[in-house]
Amino acid sequence: MFKRFFLIFLAISLLFSTSPAHAQETEEGPTYIVQAGDTLWDIASRFNVNLDDLMVANNLEDGNLVVGQEVVIPGLEGVSGVLRTETVPYGDNLRSLQRRTQAPQSVLRKLNRLVSPTELYAGVSLIVPIDTELPTLAAKVSLHEGDTLLEEAVRQNSDIWTLSEINSLGNTSTALPGEVLYAPADEGTGNNANGLPAAFTSATVSTLPLVQGSTAVIRVSVSQDVVLSGALTSNKEYSLQFFPDGENSFVALQGVHAMTEPGAYPLRLEATYPDGSVESYEQMVLVTSGGYPNDPLLIVPPATLDASITQEEQDDLIATISVASPEQLWAGAFTNPSVYEDCFTSRYGSRREYRADDGSVDPYFSFHSGLDFCGGTGLQIDAAANGIVVFAENTIVRGNATIIDHGRGIFTGYWHQSESYVQTGDTVEAGQVIGLVGASGRVTGAHLHWEVWVNQVQVNPMIWLERSFP
Ligand SMILES: [Zn+2]
Repeated sequence: MFKRFFLIFLAISLLFSTSPAHAQETEEGPTYIVQAGDTLWDIASRFNVNLDDLMVANNLEDGNLVVGQEVVIPGLEGVSGVLRTETVPYGDNLRSLQRRTQAPQSVLRKLNRLVSPTELYAGVSLIVPIDTELPTLAAKVSLHEGDTLLEEAVRQNSDIWTLSEINSLGNTSTALPGEVLYAPADEGTGNNANGLPAAFTSATVSTLPLVQGSTAVIRVSVSQDVVLSGALTSNKEYSLQFFPDGENSFVALQGVHAMTEPGAYPLRLEATYPDGSVESYEQMVLVTSGGYPNDPLLIVPPATLDASITQEEQDDLIATISVASPEQLWAGAFTNPSVYEDCFTSRYGSRREYRADDGSVDPYFSFHSGLDFCGGTGLQIDAAANGIVVFAENTIVRGNATIIDHGRGIFTGYWHQSESYVQTGDTVEAGQVIGLVGASGRVTGAHLHWEVWVNQVQVNPMIWLERSFP
């Protein structure tokens, strides 16, 4: 009997003693400063907390937020300070991020619920603490072969203990040659705090996360006389084509295939030194959905679906757009190829199912690889940019088709023409009339189908009309 009363008493006292202590803990938890456009729902999803918990922790009843307001993020005991979110740039790993933000890896792991360091994909949104008490640590240095941390410290106008502390080295002799370290910020160095090997001064990928059908711009600066190569392995492996972009800088444009399953894919960079030794860096990069809709079923003549007939045309096309000529012939955004600039009957990316009108061939599932403009037979078609005609033939699927090479792996295609005014080898200028709209090939009516290829991948052409690529 006594024992039972004691247990009830204990339970009641625990109830009363833990509640206030718990409330206090949440009040001391990390905070987020509300930015313009933030909603409570955004913040809850960004920090992966329950919306009700967030409202209770901040005594918010109506969910109204004021820009600049400090919001306590509950459920992160042991973490304090102000939090912000950032998109993980290409080149950052958990170690470089820890060195740059000066937040312990355990805190970064806890904030982002990371189970393994390999989950740190470029393009994901990451929560990082801002510690305003620490100096900005931006200068990146690489320990030279045969150098000690002391020699590096002298070179950086710093001391061995500061370098050791900034870089979370257990003791002053644990740094290895070639390892990426950070020195106290030195104005004017312009060095980025990233986790890339010594051969790479910088590497950026824009715009992260990558989207199905987008054009990725990969810029890499190298510190030495190295040969740069790389690959993005998404729906298949694409060798990156790097071209000069200023002194020691290179740029590669890579299309992201519209049918790539959303997820993380490896982007690898390799620098080969004159002596044959290689430094490489690989990081997973996030690809998200383009949100493309499904088109209604398309019924077409059997010959346009018969692989024994269409494969040769497909192979010809792939061979044509696989040769990247080094000179960039286009400049700025592309010129609209149609007289109907803002009118489309079908946009890029929509999912399509083709069936033969006599049921003789298996259904074929694909996506719409270009942009279909309004307007029928006889309307003029303009070249989208300066280039060289590399294909001008009558084909089964694409009808009367023209392909223009704009250099550096960029091609534009113009299908279903009623007439073509150009021949293979012709040089064309942006805006030049190259043919007329028609209904040749696999069509349900006369229209211009226009597509843009970026290193062997058909991308969303609309982006090339709206902005300029390097
Ligand atoms: Zn089309």
